Amino acid sequence: MSHAHSIRIIPENCRGCRRCQVACSSHDPGPLNPRLAGIQILQLENEGGNYPVINMECLERFCGKAHQGNTEQKPACVGACPFGTLEMMGAAS
Ligand code: SF4
Ligand code: SF4
Repeated sequence: MSHAHSIRIIPENCRGCRRCQVACSSHDPGPLNPRLAGIQILQLENEGGNYPVINMECLERFCGKAHQGNTEQKPACVGACPFGTLEMMGAAS
């Protein structure tokens, strides 16, 4: 099985800004609720860092929440991350 769509996470780049969560949630109906986003940011107390965790479904296929303003189709969370924590990989060539 080929994975034409896959999101790569580089946790050490994450600053915990949660723009990814806001971008994901903004596609959902109703009040904005980043806590329900497909991506969550864990706070690692021992290491003092942020660790993004994303739903398995998000990793396997395009969620349909397209990032606006870019010709390359990518999910809203990936497009919203300003720190290179989320990347598309394995795109069909
Ligand atoms: S892949 Fe889609 S559903 Fe999953 S976190 Fe990103 S924007 Fe949300
Ligand atoms: S937008 Fe990027 S840096 Fe900000 S919390 Fe999400 S993954 Fe981390």
